[in-house]
Amino acid sequence: MSTRIERLAARLADPLLVTGLVNVRYLTGLASSNAAVLIEPAGEATLYTDFRYAEAASAVEDARFEQTPRAVLPALAERFSGRRIAVEASHLSLADAETLRRGGVELVSTSGLVEALRAVKEPGELDALRRAAAISDRVYAELAAQPFVGRTEVEVAWWLEQAWHEAGADGPAFDAIVAFGENGARPHATLRDEPIPADTLVVVDAGCAVDGYRSDCTRTFFTGEPEGRLRELYDLCLRAQLDGLAAVAPGAAGRDVDAASRVAIGEAGMSELYGHGLGHGVGLDVHEGPTLRPESNAVLEPGNVVTVEPGLYLAGDVGVRIEDLVVVTTDGCERLTTVTKDPTRVA
Ligand code: ZN
Ligand code: ZN
Repeated sequence: MSTRIERLAARLADPLLVTGLVNVRYLTGLASSNAAVLIEPAGEATLYTDFRYAEAASAVEDARFEQTPRAVLPALAERFSGRRIAVEASHLSLADAETLRRGGVELVSTSGLVEALRAVKEPGELDALRRAAAISDRVYAELAAQPFVGRTEVEVAWWLEQAWHEAGADGPAFDAIVAFGENGARPHATLRDEPIPADTLVVVDAGCAVDGYRSDCTRTFFTGEPEGRLRELYDLCLRAQLDGLAAVAPGAAGRDVDAASRVAIGEAGMSELYGHGLGHGVGLDVHEGPTLRPESNAVLEPGNVVTVEPGLYLAGDVGVRIEDLVVVTTDGCERLTTVTKDPTRVA
């Protein structure tokens, strides 16, 4: 199998300067806060970073290392003067673009070249994602056995943060969402320091990182009997989630998978309460390609890893979301997060 750099080079017309730091990490293995890598169409790669990362950068096998001052881009403006260089439009600031142009570099705008490779996971990447999801399953099962009532959202989130480390993850994949009642009706709620009451829903959206790869899972817990109006909302969200999962398959369009998750909610007259897309790709970033949204142009293929996460949000009242992380297989999908979705009452 060819290297990631070779596969990228085969798609290039001009040399590509990769400045997205996650893309640099994907291509070279170097995790840093300051680096760039130039990929020539013939396959040659040069990694640029400063003194702080010199040791790690010289150990990279697939790229030649050239140390630069702390300000990488001005140094590259001199080196590339008079050349035509493709850049990542989403990962180059306007200031850096001007620096390169002033130095006499002709820029060609590109987008999504490395991201397209990242969207299809290799076996090693799937292994890391599986390990992250397995830790997520254990931590969620442990969480479900704990009392919620009387603890604050901040306290539960802090417990999760420690649990990831104790379970062997690198740490959290992103800031956890723990949101009860009306806060659960905010899809990206911020944590509050208020005690969780009885007889409400608590949305917990959290994940961990393993070797840089992220898990992403949401479960919604009952702090009362799972019955009545809240149970109906939960069951409808679960129906939508199962319909979404059933639609994930190679060749399926992202927009069609998204649409499948909206049928039951539409029939219940609640379309307005489900205002975000069904899901997103996950890997080194918690949000990457492909996307499952009404406006998505993605077509799924084996090796894509995506979330399936419909939600219902009643502003000022309550919210519910259920999210799994899945890998697209040759004939459907396999769930990586497998912790129960049965309505769960916590104390
Ligand atoms: Zn999530
Ligand atoms: Zn998500």
